[in-house]
Amino acid sequence: MAGITLNKISKSYGQLQVIHDIDIDIASGEFLVLVGPSGCGKSTLLRMIAGLEDITGGELAIGGATVNTLSPAERNIAMVFQDYALYPHMTVEDNMSFGLKMRGAASDEIGRRVENAANVLKIKDFLKRRPAQLSGGQRQRVAMGRAIVREPAAFLFDEPLSNLDASLRVEMRLEIAKLHNRMKATTVYVTHDQVEAMTLADRIAVMNAGVVEQIGKPLDLYRKPASLFVARFIGSPT
Ligand code: ADP
Ligand code: MG
Repeated sequence: MAGITLNKISKSYGQLQVIHDIDIDIASGEFLVLVGPSGCGKSTLLRMIAGLEDITGGELAIGGATVNTLSPAERNIAMVFQDYALYPHMTVEDNMSFGLKMRGAASDEIGRRVENAANVLKIKDFLKRRPAQLSGGQRQRVAMGRAIVREPAAFLFDEPLSNLDASLRVEMRLEIAKLHNRMKATTVYVTHDQVEAMTLADRIAVMNAGVVEQIGKPLDLYRKPASLFVARFIGSPT
């Protein structure tokens, strides 16, 4: 696993600057949660880390090496989306192994990784099904499985549970926590859900209009929000 360093990261779409000089040092194995109102730049920041969006200012390093100009594949970072983004025509097994096949991995190695991930995520019984034959929670597990088999340097999650109903959301949150305890993977996780943020995060970064308002351990933010804005997202109700 590798740490991720954001050094004065900025993003402009034409004349419109949406991310302003963000500095964050994410330690190897850390679980960082990003929260903030809709439109504050959370997805844009994740997409820049993943390499899905150009970085228009600053330096991004993964494992100490600058990656600004590397393609998503070269960065070796896995991203899990809220809409799962599974291939509908492929079985679960093929969804999980597709990326490895494209990269020319040996088939016994692919089989080993898919089996491991399927065990960890409890989706062994669904390997021959297609996404349409799965529940939302099962699809989300497959999407996570597809990320895990890559054995990436880091995981990025963009509101992965927001399409699930409340009880499934709780179950999957506990699964993600277990998975993180087991894998200790460097993770950046975007959520709207305060409970997810408080329970999953090593640190929480509260974003507002393209800047980080405050970053710290969940309890520190909860007890000592730096502003009313942070208190609204994390702090105790006053
Ligand atoms: P969040 O994920 O926090 O809701 P986003 O990162 O999606 O926010 O968006 C941040 C800002 O960037 C918003 O103002 C949004 O309208 C703008 N934005 C996002 N993508 C584009 C784009 N492709 N072109 C222009 N503006 C964009
Ligand atoms: Mg978003």
